[in-house]
Formats: sequence, C-alpha cells, structure tokens
Amino acid sequence: MKLFKWSFTCLAVLAASLLCVLVSCTVLQPAKHQPGSKEIILTIDDGPVLGVSDRMLEVLERQNVKAVFCYIGENMKKHPEIVTRALDEGHLLVNHSMHHNTKTLSDYEQLKAEVAEVEELIDALPTKASHNLEYFRPPFGFITPAVRKVVEEKGLKYAYVTSYIHEAPYEEKQKEKTLNYYKKELLKKGGGAIVFHEMRFRDGDPAITDKRWLPDAVEEFIIWAKQEGFTFALYK
Ligand SMILES: [Zn+2]
Repeated sequence: MKLFKWSFTCLAVLAASLLCVLVSCTVLQPAKHQPGSKEIILTIDDGPVLGVSDRMLEVLERQNVKAVFCYIGENMKKHPEIVTRALDEGHLLVNHSMHHNTKTLSDYEQLKAEVAEVEELIDALPTKASHNLEYFRPPFGFITPAVRKVVEEKGLKYAYVTSYIHEAPYEEKQKEKTLNYYKKELLKKGGGAIVFHEMRFRDGDPAITDKRWLPDAVEEFIIWAKQEGFTFALYK
C-alpha cells in the first residue's frame, strides 16, 4: 500500500512537471489574460480554405466581430482574395509560417526563411489595410529554441491562447463538445483567447477533415458569448 502511494505521488509530480514544461513551451499561456475582463480573443487557424474561410468572414461581418487569423502561407497563395478580404475588413493577421512544418520547429534557418516568405506574400496583396505582421504563432503552437530565436530577432509577439481543445480533426458531431469546452473555460476564467481550426494541416499534407460545419458553429458561439456579456477583442 505504501509503495502504491509513493508511486502515485511520483506519477503525480511527474505529470505536473510535464504539464509545466508543455505549457511553457507552447502558446498556451494560462496567465496571460486578465480574468474578469469579459473579453474574448477569437483566433482561427490554418486556413484559408474555400467554402469555410469565406463563410467565416461572412459570419464575422454579420456579427460585427473582429477575429485573429493565423493563416498558413501556402494556403494564402491559393486564396489571396480571402486574405485580402480579411485584412480589408479589419481582422488581425498572424504569421503562422509558410508550410506549417514540424521540421521548422528545430531548424532556425528554415523557420526564419518561412517567416520572411509569408511577410513578402502579405506585402504583395492589393490591400490598403495595415498588415504589419507583429504576431507569430509557431506551427502546432510549440515554442522551441529555434522559434524563440526568430521571435526575439524579429521583435515579434506570440499569438497566445488561454484555452485549447484539439478540435482540428473534429467533425460536425463533435461541435457541441468543442463549444461546451470553450463556454465552460471562458465562464470560469472570465474571458480569454481561444482557437478554432479551418483545416487540419500536418506537414504539408492537409489531412481530410470536413470543417464546413465550423462557420455556423462559430456564429452560434458568438451569439452565446454576446448574451453572456462577453465582448470580442484583438491582441493588444
Ligand atoms: Zn496551425
């Protein structure tokens, strides 16, 4: 019995340490948001995807909400018109790398090149809106030594989140699970930064997940948030 208790304590300490390491190495930053502020930073990752991202912009326009888009460079190349529209409509664009590749997390030179490539891509868009990419969200949200070096050198800021559920591969039947998780978290913390994914994207291989349910889910979420007295904000 004693041995069991001791092993359990060891496991608990190990799990807690691992969690600390994971949290400090990711953009999941529980302490970043002022509790009670009743503000939500709505961040949307990995688009643009035709049939999802265009409808997402319509939802945001209808609901008069500004969001943060962490689009992937190679997807932006396919749909520059969606990126231009997002900028023109006052949403905040975050650099999320060119190819969303795990390799860049350990390769400083490649990551630096990909960040610069996205900057060039955005500079070439026909928009008059401000588009200085001062925020960065590393692929998969991991803050590694290579990520830290690029962020420090370029004077970037992390596009953090305060709550996270791995909904990237979720299908429509997991909508309630996703929304309920975020609702509970936001009510508990009094606000925060959350993330939805318009696509599941892994190492240049966009896995097939139908996210066409997402824009309607986000609209349902926004309506709930407004009724609860939350407002929407961008990073500041
Ligand atoms: Zn991503």
